[in-house]
Amino acid sequence: MTQENLTLIAATGAALPARPFEARHLIDGLWQGSTDGAVFERHSPAHGGLVSRAARGGAAEAEAAIGAARRAFDDGRWSGLSGKDRARLLLRVADLIDANRDRIALLEVLESGKPISQANAEIEGAADIWRYAAALARTVQGDSHNSLGSDMLGLVLKEPVGVVSIITPWNFPFLIVSQKLPFALAAGCTAVVKPSELTPSTTVILGELLLEAGLPAGVVNIVLGHGQPVGALLVSHADVDMVTFTGSTGVGKAIVAAASATLKKVSLELGGKNPQVVFPDADLESAADAIVFGVCFNAGECCNSGSRIIVHADVAEAVVARVVALSRRVPFGDPLHPDTQVGAIISPAHQAKIDGHVRAAQAAGAQVRLGGDALCIPGLSGQFYPPTVISGVTPDMAIAREEVFGPVLAVLTFRTADEAIALANAAAYGLSAGVWSENIHTCLDFARRVRAGTVWTNSWMDGFAELPFGGVKESGTGRELGRYGLEEFLEVKTVQMRVGRTRTPWVKTL
Ligand code: NAD
Repeated sequence: MTQENLTLIAATGAALPARPFEARHLIDGLWQGSTDGAVFERHSPAHGGLVSRAARGGAAEAEAAIGAARRAFDDGRWSGLSGKDRARLLLRVADLIDANRDRIALLEVLESGKPISQANAEIEGAADIWRYAAALARTVQGDSHNSLGSDMLGLVLKEPVGVVSIITPWNFPFLIVSQKLPFALAAGCTAVVKPSELTPSTTVILGELLLEAGLPAGVVNIVLGHGQPVGALLVSHADVDMVTFTGSTGVGKAIVAAASATLKKVSLELGGKNPQVVFPDADLESAADAIVFGVCFNAGECCNSGSRIIVHADVAEAVVARVVALSRRVPFGDPLHPDTQVGAIISPAHQAKIDGHVRAAQAAGAQVRLGGDALCIPGLSGQFYPPTVISGVTPDMAIAREEVFGPVLAVLTFRTADEAIALANAAAYGLSAGVWSENIHTCLDFARRVRAGTVWTNSWMDGFAELPFGGVKESGTGRELGRYGLEEFLEVKTVQMRVGRTRTPWVKTL
């Protein structure tokens, strides 16, 4: 193992909150525990202390929340408001998110293990998305057809889909719910939200802010709990019109099957095995930095993780050497320290899964150039994994194709552009991809031929509320953010209006 000379940030010694956050369900405007009194606890993955205690929902809570969302949609208390009024409320929520940033960010750190500087940036980014969605609320408009003949006018109306189930993962809890919920609300939908059982609390704070902003009861409901039975009921219930899910591809497939009985609309943001292709004429310094960022950001627990690089054989050793040197300088450690760039792994089980991928790659003949074993951070009891660079990876190895969801980089090499594109497209996933070259033709050719929902050229993981995000192949269906993020929550209704009594009778008079 070669994990010496890494940059480690020891425990800050900062005290965790004296009392755990008490998270309850929000159903029809009221905060409530579970009918059977069940709870589940979350400990800080970095520090080990108790962070939150959440009501553990069951079928009764899921049914009640869906019923409340259904009534709130059907009586028009939200969809009947003007876009202007919906926008005003979303803007208020954005301001409240800003005002509560520190409180939300701290809980996000303590439940997810991510660094505090990153959590702050995510909460600020989330507020920006709420503002962007507020602007979209005033643009819900269809088409008119005035050239169907003098006696016909055609209208294409956009209408909210209805009741939406929103199911989110643990890696970006507040940001991901903010990529879905404000767009659903802008469209006029009502919702039932289920955050991950590992990170329930910041979604509960969002619920508090929604009520403080004046959202009518029942428009947004939150049920805390696990995939079974809460998630499963939210995706199969006949009163739910649409499911939007972010999580693993396996659960995404199960959701499509469960939703098919009632033919719900389903939008899925799933996993990735995202390649960055480095051509020999690239700015290798910049590429190496982006490669380290791509694989280490959020400890690699990121759907957009740049978890494999495909490097021209002539520059592969130089790139690997630079990536290894830069990786040693990334501060891994206590997420509460302001300088920490990479925090803890979400759970012991996930840490073991990451390690299993590395062991399997070694067994298959790949070389671990850095990292590759659990990391001990002085003074912290939680689980950490070091930056890990694996070279000598061939396309047949599992590490070349499977999502690791940890700070583990697989290095493959190529000789021709066709070979690089074939390798990039070889995974079952198609979330994002990147290309590094000083030649615009090389970049454009790659952008056109790679099968991915997002392509970065000479960059990695920039993101904007204005630009749609989502995957192709087994990375999902549908898009979030941008105008497309609103369209997901809208149905099209066609209205054909006769002008004057010009209709020719169909029944013949014999
Ligand atoms: P997960 O699929 O295990 O869980 C996600 C959510 O689904 C949780 O709230 C969970 O309780 C719920 N769930 C579990 N089983 C369910 C079921 N049968 N029916 C309904 N809901 C169910 O994923 P995770 O471990 O929380 O997150 C990691 C995965 O998420 C990774 O694969 C990652 O790539 C993916 N992800 C994708 C994106 C993206 O935008 N594409 C973003 C973040 C994470």
